Amino acid sequence: MLKTKILPSTEEAYAYPLLIKRILADSLKYEPNNEIIYRDLTRYNYFELNKRVRKLANVLKNLGIGAGDVVAVLEYDSPRYLELYFAVPMIGAVLHTVNYRLSPGQVLYTMNHAEDKIVFTNTDFLPLLKSIKEKLTVSVPCILMTDKEELPEDELTISGEYEELLRSASDQYDFPDFDENSVATLFYTTGTTGNPKAVYFSHRQLVLHSLAEMIVFGVYDSVARFHSNDVYMPLTPMFHVHAWGVPYAATMMGVKQVYPGRYEPEMLLRLLLSEKVTFSHCVPTILHMLVSSPVAKAVDLSHWKVVIGGAALPAGLAKAALQLGIDVITGYGMSETCPVLTVTYMNEADRKLDIDKQIELRTKTGVPIPLAELLAVDENMKPLPKDGESVGEIVARTPWLTQSYYKEEEHSKELWRGGYLHTGDVAYVDERNFFKITDRIKDVIKTGGEWISSLELENLISKHSSVSEVAVVGVPDLKWSERPYALVVPKEGEETSAEDIQQFLQQFVDNGTINKWAIPSRIDFVSAIPKTSVGKIDKKRIRAEYKE
Ligand code: AMP
Repeated sequence: MLKTKILPSTEEAYAYPLLIKRILADSLKYEPNNEIIYRDLTRYNYFELNKRVRKLANVLKNLGIGAGDVVAVLEYDSPRYLELYFAVPMIGAVLHTVNYRLSPGQVLYTMNHAEDKIVFTNTDFLPLLKSIKEKLTVSVPCILMTDKEELPEDELTISGEYEELLRSASDQYDFPDFDENSVATLFYTTGTTGNPKAVYFSHRQLVLHSLAEMIVFGVYDSVARFHSNDVYMPLTPMFHVHAWGVPYAATMMGVKQVYPGRYEPEMLLRLLLSEKVTFSHCVPTILHMLVSSPVAKAVDLSHWKVVIGGAALPAGLAKAALQLGIDVITGYGMSETCPVLTVTYMNEADRKLDIDKQIELRTKTGVPIPLAELLAVDENMKPLPKDGESVGEIVARTPWLTQSYYKEEEHSKELWRGGYLHTGDVAYVDERNFFKITDRIKDVIKTGGEWISSLELENLISKHSSVSEVAVVGVPDLKWSERPYALVVPKEGEETSAEDIQQFLQQFVDNGTINKWAIPSRIDFVSAIPKTSVGKIDKKRIRAEYKE
């Protein structure tokens, strides 16, 4: 370490730890009368949010929850969840956002592994909790959250109902200072094989990540901006990477926020229109669902900006969205990275390009956001030239990366080989610092010695006018070692065939975009593509089902 000059601070100086309470405090500075809305059920302003967070802190204290304790939450996207995002870390406890879409066995594993002390649950998840109750290592008291009038009769250790507890709690709470490196949040990722692995983030990391999001969406002259006059509605579950950290950034900005609860297409569209939502983020699946709904064509979505992440944005979907007037861009990150690493950047000249050229930029993986150091490297960790061609693994350094997997030493070492976080994603970089992910390391298809990008093939097939959705995986082949295999969902009322799609792909062979081995020899037509618990294409399952 370089020996630099560090001067002592005076005893009276305040070191200002970067704590989540600072995010909430900022919400009262500019437009505190902006509202936080829940479906067509409730609305309140930022004064009320602050008050409810103080009440919730008292509820937690009265229940015996203190610094270092882990608080589990099973809930849809709601203002209650937002309140827990703040109150739990602000008393020094740790927020465990439980993925309720995992199997009961996996939920049990994560709750035991995290050593949850208490669980806040929507009554919809009581059957899930009941099914694992006997195997929980500690008997966790349960706080119920519901929109229903009646509370269920239950044999779980119910310690109260959320609103009832809030009503009777004091609205005074003096949130203490503590080390900014204290763990604030924790959740599990299931990307790879084996048990789910926990990633965790500190107060300092979440504050810096929020600031970086505000800068990247607010400062640069680009598309899909996010400003104080926007109306924000998350369309990613709040259990997954803090809904990409945007609820924290949105609260710091004090924007109007809309929480849709359980995802129901009709309710989402209704809120989108009635609350005049202008900024959202989601995985391609959700955008696809909304864009292909018949209602979408009849309404004006031209004020809606959407960041797509979690998986690559296919060109066909980008086009369908742009044609509806939706300002759609790409963001990239992973559970381990808090998550945001890159976002689309389009300068004034880019914005004047025709739609197809714009789609090329909007579907790239984007440019690293402020403070993020991203490299595409070869097997020896040597950075590849920014030539828009050479592909290698993306490795990252930012101030907001999980520092290890909780209680998983070996996997942690593997994640942080050579002092960089390894993403497992393969990409090239061009001279403008645009990254383009071509595949995940384990999804690349190797056929007859040639490497084929499954994402590129999906992208090309998505351009076929009769294709609604597509997934491509490599399947074992005796002769070629692997062959690309495509699953296609045709557009409603349209007919197509494997030969038709193969012929369509031939033009990309002819113009040199792909080689002839890339054309899948087998294409199956299905009504739906298997998806993971967070709505991404489940390639593991497609490969397994193919084998069967
Ligand atoms: P998760 O940890 O479940 O959020 O998954 C993270 C993974 O999703 C990344 O490692 C990528 O493989 C994939 N991913 C996320 N965003 C994008 C994107 N914009 N383009 C392509 N892949 C993405």
